[in-house]
This record gives sequence, C-alpha cells and structure tokens, in this order.
Amino acid sequence: MAVLEIRKYGDPVLRERALEVDEITPDIKELVKDMIETMYATMGAGLAAPQIGISKRIIIIDGEENELLVLINPVLLKKEGKVYEEEGCLSVPGIYGKVNRYETVTVEGMNLSGEKVKVTKNGLMGKALQHEIDHLEGFLFVDRVSKIKRKILLDEYKKKNH
Ligand code: ZN
Repeated sequence: MAVLEIRKYGDPVLRERALEVDEITPDIKELVKDMIETMYATMGAGLAAPQIGISKRIIIIDGEENELLVLINPVLLKKEGKVYEEEGCLSVPGIYGKVNRYETVTVEGMNLSGEKVKVTKNGLMGKALQHEIDHLEGFLFVDRVSKIKRKILLDEYKKKNH
C-alpha cells in the first residue's frame, strides 16, 4: 500500500473523462487499496482515481459508521431534492464554496468483487457521491459555483498555493 500524491487544480488528468474499468484485475485491487490509504492519510471524505493521476472510473467514499464505499463505473440512476451547501476538494485545497446538489441520489456500480451494487444516499455521502462522480467527468466543484464566486475562489486558491 502507498499514500499517493494528490493531483491539484491545473493538472490535465483532472479534466479528462475517466475510462470504464472492464475487469477487476489485481492491479485495480491494488490501486483501490492505495486510494483508501491516500484518502485516510489526507483526511478526505472521498476520492476519485483521477485525483491520484489514474483516469479510471473508480471512486471511494468514507461513510458514516465506518462504512467505506468502493464503486467502480458508478452511474447516477436517481436524484431527488435539492441542497445548497459548502464543499471543498483535496485537489483544490484550502477553498470552499456552496454548490447545488441533489439531496438524495441512487448510484449503481460494481464493488471490488465484481458484483453489482446499488446505493441510495443523502446527506454527506449523497453529496460526496455526486462530487466524486463529477471527478470522473473532469468536473471540479469550482465549476459548479457562480462565475463571480469562481473567480474569487480561484484568486484565493492562487494566493494560498503560489
Ligand atoms: Zn474533489
């Protein structure tokens, strides 16, 4: 296992559409272990493979009651309600902004055993699912705030991380 470097805003891998995982190989299992270790080491609530430089459709979410969710090729099936709350991201450290999200989402994907899994989550996990799936499409939370707010946040980010 290894703690990997988190790719930061400006890294092109964060802007790619990540590729589907065809098969759960030993390499994929190893990659997920590294993602888990990296997420815990950085105190993240979730992590998507592109954030460690791997353009594959894998996300992990640190849930309530020590529930760790690993989803491969996740797809958003159902979305309900609206929330507008503050988010941050390990790839854009030090800044936070309010983002529109669905309150409850149902996501289907595959677990590490290659079985189909379907989860319905709200609250923090619901938001984390949407945030991490965004990463697989090359979106960051700063893309989802207003244009003016984005400029303010990115200026602040540059000041903190120059
Ligand atoms: Zn993020």
